[in-house]
Amino acid sequence: MRGIPPALLAGALMLASPAAAFADGAIPTGGSPFVPAEGGASTTIRSGGGTRYDPLRVPGERVPAPRAQESGATAAGLAARARLERAKAARRRVGSRPTLTAFAVRPARFYLAGSPALVSFTIKDRSPTVRVRLDVLAADGRTAIRKIDLGERRTRTAQTFLLSGSEGGPLPEGRLQLRLAARDPQGHRLARPAQASRVNGLEFYWHAFPVAGPFNFGGEGGRFGAARTSYSHEGQDLIAAEGTPVVAPRGGTVTQVAFQESGAGNYLILRGDGEARDYAFMHLQGGSLLVQQGQHVITGQQIAKVGSTGRSSTPHLHFEIWEGGGWKAGGKPVDPLPHLRSWNRPAPTAAVIAAVLPLPNPPAPAERKRRSARVAGRRAPARRRTAVVAAREPLTLARTSRGGVVAF
Ligand SMILES: [Zn+2]
Repeated sequence: MRGIPPALLAGALMLASPAAAFADGAIPTGGSPFVPAEGGASTTIRSGGGTRYDPLRVPGERVPAPRAQESGATAAGLAARARLERAKAARRRVGSRPTLTAFAVRPARFYLAGSPALVSFTIKDRSPTVRVRLDVLAADGRTAIRKIDLGERRTRTAQTFLLSGSEGGPLPEGRLQLRLAARDPQGHRLARPAQASRVNGLEFYWHAFPVAGPFNFGGEGGRFGAARTSYSHEGQDLIAAEGTPVVAPRGGTVTQVAFQESGAGNYLILRGDGEARDYAFMHLQGGSLLVQQGQHVITGQQIAKVGSTGRSSTPHLHFEIWEGGGWKAGGKPVDPLPHLRSWNRPAPTAAVIAAVLPLPNPPAPAERKRRSARVAGRRAPARRRTAVVAAREPLTLARTSRGGVVAF
């Protein structure tokens, strides 16, 4: 209490306990309403009047305020003005912050060494450009996997980025979330409605299933290692209707396209990008091959159709995986079945597709919580640190006309 003028102290006490301030017994007791002392105009509460109720003002006393005396203004007046200024500044800040108005990605599933996902967004701001960063988060929406610098981007116009999934190295397989961050030249951050700025349920995988249509794994005779008259079966048969598209399980280079009447029929060999693996596709439908030797293909690209050429009794794809070297040239065949099972995923659900549509801008509870924690002096919820990678990695594959990354 030291340093507080006695008159001020009396006023405060008066508020806390009227009886203490009016010890002479002049005020009513026993729960009666507080009645201010006579002539105490400044302590009167007036709903529509010009005089504000100030609990610290004492009737007839001028309130000493350290910085108020020079200007002659009262502490209450100064405080009110400061409040007004702060509110104005806050309105200015909110008004000039970059705001996300659209954010979407297509398609809902994309593959390593495949067709990139097209990320599109629009940011509203007074500045003609803002610095933008795309965060790739794990499915939990909290763990940052990559932070990709998208550079300076124009505001108020739709912007795009091709996400290859290999920015800063291959992204992990599975479900991902995308989040945008932006900063204008004045340092204002994106008004980030936590949900609206996110794309949920984007799926990323390293391999596609080689048959794009109904299929089954057939019987024991079609398994890897099944006995044949003079050798053992070096692949897995996939029973599917004649003409079903055969796609590249992994982007890569077609190393052989050939025909073998006595065995494989029409077949081709594909060397996967970024992995020591060769894939073999046999009994392909005559005239269905869409690729040539030496051609590069991307993950999921159709390369042929299921057929029954060569030594085959029914339409099916004979599929082999060779590791540790080339097909019939230093490598060894491995059982494709475990791989095929893991690549055989249901199509993205309707819910996932709906989640990538642009969302409205609801409030951002997470960011607000972090700020209020900072203001209150508590430790704000930790922000994970993830190195920001450049949007444009060294390209080893094709570029689009826009110069974006198509594949790794
Ligand atoms: Zn076979």
